[in-house]
Amino acid sequence: MNPEEFRKYGKQIIDYIVDYQTNIRDRQVAPTLDPGYLKPLIPSCAPQHAESFDDVMKDIESKIMPGMVHWNHPKFFAYFSSGNSNPSVLGDLLSSALAPICFSWASCPAATELETIVLNWYGKALGLPKAFLSDDQESTGGGALQGSASECTLVSMLAARSRTIDKLKGTQVNVHESVFLPQLIAYSSKEAHSSIEKAAKMALVKLKIIETDPQGRMRVDLLKEAIQKDIDANLTPFYVVATVGTTGSASFDNLKEIGEVCAAVSSIWFHVDGAYGGNSFILPEMRRFAEGLDLADSFNCNPNKLLLTTFDASAMWVKNVFTLKKALAVNPLYLQHEHDKAIDYRHYGIPLSRRFRALKLWFVFRTYGIKGLQDYIRNLMALAKKFEMLVKKDDRFEVCNEVFLGLVCFRLRATDSLNQDLLAQINHSGKMHMIPSKVNGKYVIRFCVTYEHATENDISEAWDDIKLYAKEVLKEVKI
Ligand code: PLP
Repeated sequence: MNPEEFRKYGKQIIDYIVDYQTNIRDRQVAPTLDPGYLKPLIPSCAPQHAESFDDVMKDIESKIMPGMVHWNHPKFFAYFSSGNSNPSVLGDLLSSALAPICFSWASCPAATELETIVLNWYGKALGLPKAFLSDDQESTGGGALQGSASECTLVSMLAARSRTIDKLKGTQVNVHESVFLPQLIAYSSKEAHSSIEKAAKMALVKLKIIETDPQGRMRVDLLKEAIQKDIDANLTPFYVVATVGTTGSASFDNLKEIGEVCAAVSSIWFHVDGAYGGNSFILPEMRRFAEGLDLADSFNCNPNKLLLTTFDASAMWVKNVFTLKKALAVNPLYLQHEHDKAIDYRHYGIPLSRRFRALKLWFVFRTYGIKGLQDYIRNLMALAKKFEMLVKKDDRFEVCNEVFLGLVCFRLRATDSLNQDLLAQINHSGKMHMIPSKVNGKYVIRFCVTYEHATENDISEAWDDIKLYAKEVLKEVKI
């Protein structure tokens, strides 16, 4: 594609995106297709000779769009939001076009330095403890943008593992680190995200799951008991993860109480997973849930889940960046450069190659301002409260979580199987999209307000439709 064609098709794609966004309400939010729909529509081998870009674009609308789930549709109430916005899309586009591979300061000074600055902006906007920030010369803290919260958890667990093994190993230079693996044990709550279990599986460490209270918060008394029991059994507790904004019901663990338990055992690294809910600390009124964050060793938060930043973007802060370097750094000659005091972000995560992710986050902060981002989250919260109120007014339904953010978990006061039928009806309609979870052992439907420009009308319409499907499901049943 020559530069003039790129200009032409680039404009066409922007026009296509604007039309898509403007008319998104005309589309079904999710397809009702069976797996394998695309195979008969696309040749089984790549073309031998170049095709025209016009032909490619035609296939977008006729073949790809029918199989899309529209995550930025006003009636998309599933998962957590994909956190998209136009400034962020433009930042991502520019990053793709400039295409630096940002593994060291020397590989792209602007990307490295902007990442450091933007992570400090972001941390300050959330009111993070100073120890996580890096703009003070004396600080050992700092942050980096990873691809996902799962990576942040894994990286923090690897750093914790390395720190504890170093202590256990002491001066036994001839003993291999893996010898200590069987005695390491980590803890998370039953409501923590599955990525914690996956991280423990990859890190080859034991994980103990702690029960939650009826509000979905980790039972700190049980955590304390479990840690003591494991110490008595000659295991070494090395990592505890708390969640602010759980996936199932957006509940907030008590960071202060958990942090105090961790602080009493020197080997424990305390990590806080705020993939979704951590972003809400941008609102002063949500900071009550951040109390105790100063006790954490690390914290992660995805601007791509609640801060209007296109996937992928997951921020991770640690109090001591040397723990990351100790666990992850390797330094072959071809990656070395003369400015060895500068930050080389390859030591802060798993991949060598890294995208210029800070650019899109910088665009978002600058074009919305902290005020604009606060307004966005407050709108989602107000709309979730509206939905909660509508559900509570109908005796056939119950709300099953405390609604602090954009997520409402609700169900018919009926069997799990009837609620499954209701969700199937909702999703098969293609008009709305939701997913289930369990709260206190009961099957619930998650209604998460995600759309950037969501209005009260979107919520009322959704509720009217839900009631219609409920009527259908309840035809034969009295509740
Ligand atoms: N942690 C929490 C609380 C989540 O809700 C999620 C996903 O929704 C994750 C971690 C995993 O996030 P990612 O997809 O960025 O790995």
